[in-house]
Amino acid sequence: MGQKTLVTVVGTRPQFVKAFPLSRALQAAPDFREAMIHTGQHFDDNMSAVFFSELGIRPPDHHFSVAGTTHGAMTGDMLARIEQVLLSARPDAVLVYGDTNSTLAGALAAAKLGIPLVHVEAGLRSFNRAMPEEINRIVADHLAQVLICPTRAAIGNLKDEGIVTGVHLAGDLMYDAMRLATPIAERASKVLERLGMSPKSYGVATVHRAANTDEPDALAPVLDYIANEARRQPIVFPIHPRTVAAMKRAGLDPSRPGIVVTEPVGYLDMCRLLHHATVVLTDSGGVQKEAYFHRVPCVTLRDETEWTETVDCGWNRLWRGPDYAPRRDIADYGDGDAAAEIVALMRDSL
Ligand code: UDP
Repeated sequence: MGQKTLVTVVGTRPQFVKAFPLSRALQAAPDFREAMIHTGQHFDDNMSAVFFSELGIRPPDHHFSVAGTTHGAMTGDMLARIEQVLLSARPDAVLVYGDTNSTLAGALAAAKLGIPLVHVEAGLRSFNRAMPEEINRIVADHLAQVLICPTRAAIGNLKDEGIVTGVHLAGDLMYDAMRLATPIAERASKVLERLGMSPKSYGVATVHRAANTDEPDALAPVLDYIANEARRQPIVFPIHPRTVAAMKRAGLDPSRPGIVVTEPVGYLDMCRLLHHATVVLTDSGGVQKEAYFHRVPCVTLRDETEWTETVDCGWNRLWRGPDYAPRRDIADYGDGDAAAEIVALMRDSL
């Protein structure tokens, strides 16, 4: 059996978390050789380096520092640099995760060079094209030859867009990541002690979506919602750099009674925080699912979600939507072996 070479493109925090179990599985597979590009989209140590060091992800083979702050400038810069790497590496496939500008750039670079594209976390839809992520995921799905879906809803979404070949269901890599990391986090993380929290007596909030941060009129009610919840129990709020910048621009102060502000935390700290929380308030896709993985109810600070099964099964609700549905287990997301399944699927497909 010949060895397949794969170039993986990552650039943001959720992609490092997804790469953690899959790169590990690829390293253990003798018939695959993975080279990793880090586009530099996230660059702060606590948004990037900490994930590589804590989770033992191999350092990237190519690490850019991406120029440009607009979507076009950033994506264009990444596209040109990724293309250079692909032209010299000529891999058998390119793998991209999720829905960021790094995903879009990796997908376009691969497609233009005729290199097969694997899209992990395919088929997710918010049906809101005002979200930059929605554009990125639609393009990546329509360019990919191998589409790895974490849910049956995702497969249905692709079918509705006429995409039926190369589509596979393989569980959710974030579930794998959580299963691997939580026992380590329980031993190693001191985050509860550092923040003075005791188990089951606090909530966790995260906010970073453009729709919530780009307009002061949107961010103020989100902060008010968190502050209101913080009257019942302390809410730990690790604030994303984009949100810090947005709050500064808008003159908003997150330090309200009960809100425990902190810098973004590493993944192990986040696992421990979520594991012992009573409630999660978030506009993050990943954190909505992780709330369920840790069996903590979630309020999504958005008007729609891609992870509809979390709402259908009563673990999540939209902040302006109806109350929780009756609670039941979610059948999707797999058993923590999504990475192994994805390696097997790529073996068969490439
Ligand atoms: N996360 C983290 N530290 C934090 C906030 C989030 O490690 O301070 C993790 C979280 O547990 C999840 C991932 O980052 O695994 C989610 O990333 P993010 O919310 O930035 O992106 P999204 O999932 O919305 O694409």
